[in-house]
Amino acid sequence: MRVMISADMEGATGVTWPEDVEPGTPAWDRMRRLMTGDVNACVEGLFAGGATHVLVNDAHYTQRNLLIEDLDERATLLTGRHKPLGMMHGVQDADAAVFLGYHTGAGQSGVLAHTYLGVGLTGFRINGQDADEGRMNSLMAAEYGVPVVLVTGDDLTCAAAGKWAPGALTASVKECVSRYAAVCLPPARSGALIRLQAELSLDRVSSQQRPEPVPGPYLFEVDFHATHLAEAAAAVPGVEQTGPCSIAYTSVTATEAARTFKVCTTVAGAAAEDHFE
Ligand SMILES: [Zn+2]
Repeated sequence: MRVMISADMEGATGVTWPEDVEPGTPAWDRMRRLMTGDVNACVEGLFAGGATHVLVNDAHYTQRNLLIEDLDERATLLTGRHKPLGMMHGVQDADAAVFLGYHTGAGQSGVLAHTYLGVGLTGFRINGQDADEGRMNSLMAAEYGVPVVLVTGDDLTCAAAGKWAPGALTASVKECVSRYAAVCLPPARSGALIRLQAELSLDRVSSQQRPEPVPGPYLFEVDFHATHLAEAAAAVPGVEQTGPCSIAYTSVTATEAARTFKVCTTVAGAAAEDHFE
């Protein structure tokens, strides 16, 4: 059984503060060790549960956060940016997917809640439903016939996962108090929880039906906090500006929709100015 772990950082053990997830800062340097600890706990549980291969896709920001020198030697690490399937690269060869260290979406309650952009993106819907990175990525997984078996993050992320990955187990490593505060389990306890849930999660793969892809087309709608971000993103072919701060587009597959989403958010992010952002 081949498992792909898509590892983000905002939902990792102990992480609550913008600097914690900002590459190059002392806080990030400390927290990447805790993120690696969460990954190792997950890898251990997955192998105990019957995994034969585990690929870890480092999916946060520069995608160069995890410490390979400390990684469980049974796993392999996909590190670095510009991957054809982004946060989900590796799903194409997997039998099961884990979303580790995930977070809630822009405009929702949750520790370090956002969707791709830290501040500029304020709303995101897929086919009219409120969406976040978890929902978008689970649609991609379904397109490859891969079930999402485990989601870890704060308590609100675990609750949200019930809507877009109802068959997944969850491991909540912290209780959200505010966007920048949480009651956190120390690594010894969060690691034990992740390990246990990872082991149990694979029990369910054989008994679960492979997910059916949601039939397309997919309508993606995105709201930004200011007009120039929408104006910039509307330059992407196929993307329409639907309101002063909003864009929309339609794609036949979830994978194509996610790729366009990445382009739109990259273009919008580049349109933000230091002043008058
Ligand atoms: Zn992230």
